[in-house]
Amino acid sequence: MIVITAGHSNTDPGAVNGVVTEANIVTDFRNMVAYYLRRSERDFRTDGEDAINLPLRDAIRLIKPGSIAVEFHCNAHANLAASGVETLSGDEMRPLGRRLCDTVSVLLGIPNRGAKGEASGQHSRLGFVQAGGLILELFFLSNNHDLRAYLDKKWLVARAVAQVLCDADDGR
Ligand SMILES: [Zn+2]
Repeated sequence: MIVITAGHSNTDPGAVNGVVTEANIVTDFRNMVAYYLRRSERDFRTDGEDAINLPLRDAIRLIKPGSIAVEFHCNAHANLAASGVETLSGDEMRPLGRRLCDTVSVLLGIPNRGAKGEASGQHSRLGFVQAGGLILELFFLSNNHDLRAYLDKKWLVARAVAQVLCDADDGR
């Protein structure tokens, strides 16, 4: 079973760059990945459809033993030059994290910051990781170059991420 969820929620925008919010970006991304999973007739769960982005406690409930569970976020930093993709997870999900980082890094042309442990990030949503899931920090929303690369290529990234998740699900 694949579980894909969008970070933050309809009441918590997360990071912001101008009029762009992290919650809107990752909800849109979740919908695009869901489109490709549906097209490949996968069994999967999401934390809402269209503009719905349920809060973390609901996202965590979707994770069952053996799930491939990924929550999408964007990074942000006061240093606007900070750039790249990274994942946060427990050891068991580290290989999946490395594949996701490689995929996003190559497609967006941004640094690969690597598959990190759960204590490495700035996010406090690690309940998702403790439940066995992985957090994918797609890029830095605070970096205009990262954001532009993402907006240009988001469908390609969504298709490739869906493929990585399908491969991981097949390997279970
Ligand atoms: Zn976030």
